[in-house]
Amino acid sequence: MDVSRLERVVVGSVGGREPAVWAEGRTVSLSSELLDRTGWRRFLDASGTLSLPGDVEIPTLDDVVRLREQAAFTDHPPASSRLPVSYQYVPGWARAIVGASIGRLNRSRTGHWARFPAWPLDLSADFVADMTSTASPMSALRTPVLLTHDIDSPEGLERLVADFLPLEEQAGARSTSYVVPCAWPIEYALADAVVSRGHDIGVHGYDHSNRTAFADAAERGRRLDAAAAFADRYRSTGYRAPSLLRTRALLRDLAGRYRYDSSIPTSGGLFPVPNNGCASARPFVAEGIAELPLSMPRDGSLRFLGHSPGEIAALWISCADAIARARGVVVLLTHCERRFSGNVAMLAAYRTLLEYIGADERFAFSSPLQAIASAGLP
Ligand SMILES: [Zn+2]
Repeated sequence: MDVSRLERVVVGSVGGREPAVWAEGRTVSLSSELLDRTGWRRFLDASGTLSLPGDVEIPTLDDVVRLREQAAFTDHPPASSRLPVSYQYVPGWARAIVGASIGRLNRSRTGHWARFPAWPLDLSADFVADMTSTASPMSALRTPVLLTHDIDSPEGLERLVADFLPLEEQAGARSTSYVVPCAWPIEYALADAVVSRGHDIGVHGYDHSNRTAFADAAERGRRLDAAAAFADRYRSTGYRAPSLLRTRALLRDLAGRYRYDSSIPTSGGLFPVPNNGCASARPFVAEGIAELPLSMPRDGSLRFLGHSPGEIAALWISCADAIARARGVVVLLTHCERRFSGNVAMLAAYRTLLEYIGADERFAFSSPLQAIASAGLP
C-alpha cells in the first residue's frame, strides 16, 4: 500500500464550516495532490497546522473515496494465508506468546505500521467528507453503537452465551456474532439461544484459513456458498472476513449474498497487514455492498500491544467519544475466547464500556441494519 503521497496535518481551523468543526485539533492525513489542487497548502504553517479561511476551495466526493479506499483492501495475503496448513492448527497459546512479545516491541513504533490510517483512530476520510458540499445524513442522530464478536471456536460460542450476552442484556444491548460456519462442529442449541434472545448471527468466512479473499473466482464462490445453509438458518444479513482479509473481488462476491460487510477497520494498525484501514467511521458503499467499518480498536490488537484491561477500557471510551463527535458509528469487535476478552479482567473492561455507553444520551445501542439505514444507505 502506497502511503507516500499522504501528508499528516493538524486541523487548526475549518474556517467556520460547521459540519467539520469536530475535526479541529485532530491530526488527519491528506494527499499531497489534494493540498496542491485546492490551494490548502498555503494555509499550512511550519508546524504542520492547517488553518483554513472561510472561502476556500473544497474537495470533491472523489477525494473522499480515494482516501477511504487508499488502504482499505488487503491486496496481498500475509504469511498466514500461504501456509500449507491452516494457521488455526498452531495452538492459540503459542500464537499469543509469539504475538505478545513482538507486540511490546512494536507498541512504540506506530510510525512503521500506522502511518496511515493512524492508530488507534483515524477519521481523515470523514474530515474530507465534511469539507465537501454534501452533508452527512447522520448529523441529527444519536451515535449508533454496535457490539460484535467473532466466534472462532466452540469455546468462543460457549463463552458468548455464558458471559457476554448477560452483560449486554443487562445494559439493554443486543450484539452480532460472526460465526465460522465450516471449521468446527457448531453447537446449534447454543447458536439458537443467541438468536432467540434477540441477538444477531452473521457469517465469519468459511474455515478461517485466510484463503477466501485471495482464491480464484470459482473457489471463492464455492467457499462463500458453503456458508449458505448456516446463513439461512440464522437469517444472517452480514459477513465479516476472517482476520479481516478483504479484497475488492471478495466484496463484489459478497454483494449478491449479504446486505452488508463489516471487514474493513477504520484503523487496522498492525493486523492483518501494517497500514490498513479506511480512515472512516461511517457506513459507505464499496463494490456494490454496504460496508460497516470496524471503527474501534480491536481487543486482539490491544492485547498484542501489551495494554492492560484498564487501559483498554479507557481507550475504548475515548475512541467512542471521538466517533460520536465525528458523527460516525461505534463498531466494537471482541473475541469471546479466554485468551482475548473472555476472562474476568477483560469482561470488566467490556462492562465499563457498556455502562458508559448505556448512561450517555449521545449513544444508542443499535443493529447493523439500523446503522446502515441511519447512514442513508440501501
Ligand atoms: Zn476470526
